[in-house]
Amino acid sequence: MSGPDCSQTLHRLYEYLDGEMTPEDTATIARHLAECAPCMEQHDIEAAVKALLKRSCRQEQAPVALRTAIVQRLTTLRIEYTD
Ligand SMILES: [Zn+2]
Repeated sequence: MSGPDCSQTLHRLYEYLDGEMTPEDTATIARHLAECAPCMEQHDIEAAVKALLKRSCRQEQAPVALRTAIVQRLTTLRIEYTD
């Protein structure tokens, strides 16, 4: 297999979610996600957080407690995945 490894995939998740990649890179990441449950799980979490923040921003501001909880959760996940 010649695709990206997990750390490369996770590193580029934000670009992927933001649609800032070339179609080739997008396809490469999508292929890795389809074959890799831990990366897919991280992708789902990032996508959920992104949607949540977007929704919150449209109203006034995301409550501080919510932001803090999200950041903490992401930090925990980063530590787990980069280990
Ligand atoms: Zn992976």
